[in-house]
Amino acid sequence: MESILATAWEERLAGPYDVIVVGSGYGGAITAARLANALLNPKLKICVLERGQEWPIGSSLTRSSA
Ligand SMILES: Cc1cc2nc3c(=O)[nH]c(=O)nc-3n(C[C@H](O)[C@H](O)[C@H](O)COP(=O)(O)OP(=O)(O)OC[C@H]3O[C@@H](n4cnc5c(N)ncnc54)[C@H](O)[C@@H]3O)c2cc1C
Repeated sequence: MESILATAWEERLAGPYDVIVVGSGYGGAITAARLANALLNPKLKICVLERGQEWPIGSSLTRSSA
């Protein structure tokens, strides 16, 4: 079964956020991960916004051409 990482809107951590990361690509993902793991007290509230579609774990990124 495919696993979705994105959280349903109603289950998301309510704002306001300390940091909003736009894009979950290479730069955004690393930025969000490092901020989330930073040794801060309290932890930062981070929101990651992604405009693209989610590719579930286990899905294939290859396209078949007929
Ligand atoms: C076909 C291909 C092969 C590559 N191969 C390599 C490789 O082998 N090695 C290597 O080092 N690099 C490779 N690169 C380059 C590498 O992918 C990029 O350098 C890297 O992904 C750039 O990171 P980024 O965070 O700037 O952008 P991206 O990784 O492109 O992430 C940007 C994200 O922001 C999202 N976004 C954009 N605008 C908005 C918005 N307004 N609101 C919400 N979300 C938004 C996009 O949907 C995307 O998910 C390759 C690139 C391509 C296209």
